[in-house]
Amino acid sequence: MRILISNDDGINAPGLAILEEIAAELSDDIWVIAPSEEQSGAGHSLSLSKPVRIRQHGERRYSVSGTPTDSVMLGIGKIMGDLKPDLLLSGVNRGANLGDDITYSGTVAAAMEGTLAGVKSIALSQVHSADPLYDAAPFQAASHWGAKAIKPLLEHDFEPRSLLNINFPALRADAVKGIRITKQGFHDYSRAAIIEGKDPRGAPYYWFGLNGIEHTLGHDSDLEAIADGYVSLTPLTLDLTHQVAHKKLNNLYE
Ligand code: MN
Repeated sequence: MRILISNDDGINAPGLAILEEIAAELSDDIWVIAPSEEQSGAGHSLSLSKPVRIRQHGERRYSVSGTPTDSVMLGIGKIMGDLKPDLLLSGVNRGANLGDDITYSGTVAAAMEGTLAGVKSIALSQVHSADPLYDAAPFQAASHWGAKAIKPLLEHDFEPRSLLNINFPALRADAVKGIRITKQGFHDYSRAAIIEGKDPRGAPYYWFGLNGIEHTLGHDSDLEAIADGYVSLTPLTLDLTHQVAHKKLNNLYE
């Protein structure tokens, strides 16, 4: 089994090293192709207004001077040549990719790009916490539960144009209660806080910060599973069509 690994935190991200360890439990044919710089929040963006460079760091190890999507597109379309991957793993992201945050996520977008290329694709994210005890082993839940979550999926046929989004709770591995299959949740309030500051020349600038995750319980959601101490595994689809609205709009124009 040939595995392509990417992420959105960059080729030197600690979470990428964790994902390499997880992948090594599944195969010895691993290709690492990731952005050269941090790309969190890049979503599914593609570099169109500037050229993209590929740099080789070792055997089956490359960085791309672009977005997560650029990395996967060049990885499958150029670097790997005829050696198409059987599995794409994106992550392990430092931070959650839950609920409404999914469309901002470069981690999930890299998995979307793999899905578009016909490759079984899984995004993995480690929720982080401000707890100093947790910070001593920030990827412990992902590290212990990663291969456990992925292995059954290797035997499972993914639905066409679908991918999986896995999030690990900010807990020690032995405190994680298990794996729950979830639906994409939604935040009760916008997570983005707009922070205003002044640059060294006195001109205002704006920087997006984060508010806490607020959500309504009781929707079998990814947010709820994480709050309950479970690994969340959400099947996602590339088709963004709203089926109910599609039907209603058809009636509207009859
Ligand atoms: Mn990231």
